[in-house]
Amino acid sequence: MIRTDERYTTAITTDNLKMDTREHAAIGDADVLTAAAWAPARLGSALLRLASEYARPVRMQGMSASDAILLMGQLKTLPEVRRELAIQLKEWGHDKPEDGALAIIAWWLHKVCSKCDGVRYEVIPGTGRTSGRACKACSGTGEARLPQGEMGKRAANYMDDCVQVARQSIGRRLRLSMSPKNSTTGGV
Ligand SMILES: [Zn+2]
Repeated sequence: MIRTDERYTTAITTDNLKMDTREHAAIGDADVLTAAAWAPARLGSALLRLASEYARPVRMQGMSASDAILLMGQLKTLPEVRRELAIQLKEWGHDKPEDGALAIIAWWLHKVCSKCDGVRYEVIPGTGRTSGRACKACSGTGEARLPQGEMGKRAANYMDDCVQVARQSIGRRLRLSMSPKNSTTGGV
């Protein structure tokens, strides 16, 4: 029996994948992807979990996409978020969805300019002090540039939407659990 995660990998790397053939296909890669594609709320809550994993034990300055690969073992939620985003990128026609997903997630986790570390000014070498000149790498914004061009923009918007959906759904559950009807069943 083929394990589910192996089928995900096969599906992501299969080049002739076409979502619009779904109706005609029997059990093919498109079906695996359809089953694998998460609801936005699920991706959103996984992203929130990933962000909290990143903020707690791991603090890396000047993180690049290759540093992000090193984080894979430390961020438990990263592989599943990466896989899910790769599925989405593949649907949008990205030719290297797994690489693209990692670069975008790395940016999403750490939107800080790696040159000035977010202080917005050029750092004087060897002193750690800043000069009065705006950082050239980020044009003085302190933020890292979004990678992957238009695909990156689309993915970043999608991720923001997913997080928002997840927050709303968490908020709804909290309100439900605190409503009088439910609190009486708790027997407090
Ligand atoms: Zn900068």
